Amino acid sequence: MGIARVALPVAAHAEFDYWAPSGLGIAVGSVVRVHLARRALVGVVVALSDTSEVETARLQPVTEVVAELPPLPDDLLAVARFIAGYYQEPLGQVLAQMLPPLENAPVSQRRAEALAGPLALTAAGMRELPPRLRRSPRLAELFDRWRTAAGGVLTELELQALPPRLRTTLRAWLQAGWLEPAAAAPDPAAGGPELNADQQRAAAAIIAAGGRFAPFLLQGVTGSGKTAVYLAAAAAVIAGGAQALVLVPEINLTPQFERRVLAALPGRRVVTLHSGLAAGARRRRWLAAATGVADVVLGTRLAGFAPLPRLGLIVVDEEHDPSYKQQDVVRYHGRDVAIWRARLRAVPVVLGTATPALETLRHVQDGRYVRLNLPQRAVADARLPMLALAPDRGEAVYDGMGARLLAAIEARLARGEQSLVFINRRGYSPSLLCASCGWQAGCPRCSARLVVHRDAFELRCHHCGHRERLARACPQCGNVDLLPMGHGTQRLERALAERFPSARIARVDRDSTRREGAFAAIREQVHAGDIDIMVGTQMLAKGHDFPRLTLVGVLGADNALYSADFRATERLGALLFQVAGRAGRAGLPGEVIVQTSFPEHPLFRALLHHDYDDLAAALMDERRVAGLPPFSRLALLTAEAPQRETVDGFLAAAQQAGLLLRRDLRLAVEVFSPVAAALARRAGQERGQVLVRSDERAALQRFLAAWREAIAALPGRRVRWALDVDPMGFA
Ligand code: ZN
Ligand code: ZN
Repeated sequence: MGIARVALPVAAHAEFDYWAPSGLGIAVGSVVRVHLARRALVGVVVALSDTSEVETARLQPVTEVVAELPPLPDDLLAVARFIAGYYQEPLGQVLAQMLPPLENAPVSQRRAEALAGPLALTAAGMRELPPRLRRSPRLAELFDRWRTAAGGVLTELELQALPPRLRTTLRAWLQAGWLEPAAAAPDPAAGGPELNADQQRAAAAIIAAGGRFAPFLLQGVTGSGKTAVYLAAAAAVIAGGAQALVLVPEINLTPQFERRVLAALPGRRVVTLHSGLAAGARRRRWLAAATGVADVVLGTRLAGFAPLPRLGLIVVDEEHDPSYKQQDVVRYHGRDVAIWRARLRAVPVVLGTATPALETLRHVQDGRYVRLNLPQRAVADARLPMLALAPDRGEAVYDGMGARLLAAIEARLARGEQSLVFINRRGYSPSLLCASCGWQAGCPRCSARLVVHRDAFELRCHHCGHRERLARACPQCGNVDLLPMGHGTQRLERALAERFPSARIARVDRDSTRREGAFAAIREQVHAGDIDIMVGTQMLAKGHDFPRLTLVGVLGADNALYSADFRATERLGALLFQVAGRAGRAGLPGEVIVQTSFPEHPLFRALLHHDYDDLAAALMDERRVAGLPPFSRLALLTAEAPQRETVDGFLAAAQQAGLLLRRDLRLAVEVFSPVAAALARRAGQERGQVLVRSDERAALQRFLAAWREAIAALPGRRVRWALDVDPMGFA
C-alpha cells in the first residue's frame, strides 16, 4: 500500500502519514490537500513509503493533488529541511512559506489583478487620451510621464506605486485599448555606461565561476556600480541558457532597480516576486520561474524560494540589510538561505554591499568567500562627499540643528540644490515631560514612553499602537507647562519651516507615507526639483538616487552608541555610510554633516575616511574580545505572558532544562540566566529571554534540537515562546 508522508503547516514538529491512492500520481514534492482532524490543509509530500506506523484502518487518503502547482523540486525540499533543522522550525511551516497562494485565496488579495506591468501607451491612447485629460491635471501628468518614460513604458513597480484610484483608471484605459502590455522596451541608455576596469574584473571573476559553488563579496561604495556588475554577470549566465535569481531587501523602495534590470536585459523575461502582489499574479510568476520561462527572478526574500530549474547565478543585493531576516512565523535569514541554495545547486552567489555584515567579512578573512572590490565611483566626475563632524550640544542650537548645519542648508537653498536632514525617529518628540514634578507620559500597556504627534494632537505608542489625546496639563500635579523632550521628524520639519519660510519641505517617514503611493509621489517631486529640503527616517537612506541632493545632515546618531544591543553600532555604521552615499552623486560635490558628542568614536573616524573596513576592524576586535558573533553563535529563547511571574518561572525552568541537557550531552554550550527584554512589557505582555551561546555551530545545533523538545514539554500554557537562531538583536 502506498503511503505519503506529508508536511503540514502546523506547529507540531512532525510529518503525517496518508494513504496515497495510486491513481493520483503522487510524487515526492507533490502539493496535496488532506484532512487533519477534520481541518482541510495543503501540505507537501516529503517521502513515499510502503509502510506506516499508523494502523492501516486509521490512515486517511490524500484528498487530491493540487493541479495548479508542479511538485517542488528536490533542491527546494533540501533547502526546506535545512531551514527546519537549522532554525528549529516545523518543516511543514517552512514548506508553506515556499508555496505561492492557491486559487482559493481571500477576496481581499484578488484586487488589482489586471494591472501587471510593464504597460505601454497604444497609438489609440496617444490620439484619444489628451482631449479627455484636460480637466484632470493628475491624469494629464500621468500621461506625460508615460510619454517621456524610457522606452514609453511604465514598469510594474512604478504602476504599483500609484494610488489605488489611479490604478482603477488605468485598468479602464487598458480595457479601452489605450494601454497594452509591453515587453520591457530597451532603454536608450540600455546597460548604462561601459564597465570600468574594476567592474569588468569583478564581472569576469563571477562569470568564470559558473557551474560551481563560489561565494563572492562584491564590496563597493555607494555609487560604485555594483548593479552593473550583477547585470553583466546575469546577462552572461542567461546567454548560456541559465536563470538568474536577484534578491533585494525591500522591493517597493527600489523601482529604479527593476527598470535597470529590464533595460540591461532587453528581450529577457524578468519577473518580480514579492508579498505585495495579488495572489493570481504571484502564482503565475512562481510558475514562470518553475517552468523555466522566466530568465530572471527579481524579488524580496520570498523570491529565494522560487523553483528555478535552470538556476545559474544568485545575487543578494545589500546583503547586510536586516530586512533579510524574517522575524516571525519562520525565523530565517534570506541571505544565508540563498548561500545554502547556491551550494546545493553548485552555482556562484554574489553578496553586494558597501557595508558588509561582519559575518560576511569573517568568511572573507577565513578564505571561504572571495572579495571583489569596487573602490571608485562609477560616474567619473562623482566624487565622495566631504564629511564633517559638528558638536551636538553646547553651542547655539536651533531645535537640535547646530550653526554649521543651518548655514549649509542656507547655502544649498541659495544655489537651488537639495538637502536632506536625517533623524531616525518619527513623531514630534519622543517624550512629554512635566517640568514641575518630573512626570513623563508613558504607555499603559508597554514599558515605553509615549511619542508626541503634534499634527494629530496625540500621544502614540510606537510599540503597541496605543493612542491618546495630547494632555494639556500634567495628570499628576496639574501643571500646564508640559515640555516635549527630544526631536523627531515632525519637530524638525516644523523648525525648518520656521527658519526657512520660503523653502519647500517634505517629510518622509512611516506616518507621512502611510497612504499607498505617497512615498513614490514624494520621490517624484524630489526628482522634479520641487522639493528643497527633505526630513526623514531611514526610509530615505536606501537606494535612492537624487541628482540635486548635495547636503546630508545627520542628527541623533549618538543614540545607537548607548544601545544595549551589540549590533547597534554596526547597523548605525551601515546606515551612515548609506546616507553619506546619497550626497553628491551626479557631478555636484556633496557634503555630509554628522552632529555628535563623540567625535573620537571609531565609527565617526571611519566615516571621516570613508573607510568602512576601518570601522569593521574595530567592531571585529570588540566582538572577538566579547565572544560575540561572528566569533560565536547565538540563539535566543524569547517568551511572553500577561504575568511577570509566569514568564520568569517559564524561563527559569527552560534554563534549568538547558543546563541539564548541556551536562548530559556534554556540549560546549553556555546557557545564560533569564533576563527581562529591553522592552520588558509590550501590549500588556511581560517579556523575557534566555540567551544561548556556543563557539561550535554543530554543538549549538545538537543542543537546540534537544532543548526545543524539552521546552515544549514544560508546563506554562499561557506562555508564548519562540527560538530565534542567529538573532539580529536582543528583543
Ligand atoms: Zn507634573
Ligand atoms: Zn504601548
